Amino acid sequence: MTPELIFPARKPLAQIPTRLQSLNLTDAPHDKRLWIKRDDLTGAALSGNKIRKLEYVLAQALAEGADTLVTCGGFQSNHCRATALTAAAHGLGCELILRGEKPDNLDGNLLLGAMAGADYRCYRAPDYHRNLPLLLRQTAERLKAQGKNPFVIPTGASDEIGLWGYIQAAQELAQDFVALGIERPLVVCAVGSGGTLAGLAAGLAHFCPDARVLGVAVCDNQSYFEQRVQEDIAKAQQVYPQSGLQMPTNYRVNDEFIGPGYAKGYPALYKTIQQLAREAGVILDPVYTGKAFYGLAELMRRGAIAQRDIVFIHTGGIFGVFPEREALQP
Ligand SMILES: *Cc1c(COP(=O)(O)O)cnc(C)c1O
Repeated sequence: MTPELIFPARKPLAQIPTRLQSLNLTDAPHDKRLWIKRDDLTGAALSGNKIRKLEYVLAQALAEGADTLVTCGGFQSNHCRATALTAAAHGLGCELILRGEKPDNLDGNLLLGAMAGADYRCYRAPDYHRNLPLLLRQTAERLKAQGKNPFVIPTGASDEIGLWGYIQAAQELAQDFVALGIERPLVVCAVGSGGTLAGLAAGLAHFCPDARVLGVAVCDNQSYFEQRVQEDIAKAQQVYPQSGLQMPTNYRVNDEFIGPGYAKGYPALYKTIQQLAREAGVILDPVYTGKAFYGLAELMRRGAIAQRDIVFIHTGGIFGVFPEREALQP
């Protein structure tokens, strides 16, 4: 018997457990079984992987008496959209710090976030990268001066709190594996800020020790993310010393499929997204899940994956499709 993990407080937001389904593609190798964990179905507007993390983050924010959520991300950030909708649903304010130039017409995630009443400010990429910690601090201080109680959520809600959402997802997966007869699986996810990978790795190390995890990076490189996971777990062990959380060694990161850069596409990526839509009725997104799935398919073609059972975590992102409408015309 594995000792119990003790989870922090959680505020239910997500439609979970999500289904684990088999995925049949015309060009998949015959000696593999492909599965897809439908975390794109954790909700409608409030969908994807960020809401699993926000369940734990929101519980902490409410425990601290917060009345405004402050967070940051790219222009079409799924995380900012999910945070804005979560705030609106709980009567909280929301302020977003966004990387990019403000467009004339709002679209995709930003449209939904703005509809939910989030205030947002846009910064050019170099300024954003140089000043992000300062911008977050200044926003929090401005809100405090207005008599508010802000709670700052880091990029992607990837910290020692948010990663519990994917430790819980790993517990769900372990039950799915038993129910479906899945053994020694390779679990694959996109990696953008690292919290999903950190939670899956730590959670599977606990609940399914013979699983391995492969993170496909969509921005920073392999060594950055492998170290980032160690740091986030170490922080969680420090903040939750009674939790029973162990440092995982069951994961690695591949950074070969980023292409021209974060949120920048390439033809093979768009072809992969179109293939899954057509053959499986599954919509991948161009920033995260499309690159991760393309990377997985390419590694299978190269014969670089030993496992028979391969479990792809669909982390959502559907609203990122619309701003890329030109590249995705069938
Ligand atoms: C944020 C995001 C990811 C990456 O998750 P991280 O925990 O930030 O690494 C993957 N897929 C989608 C759709 C996302 O929005």
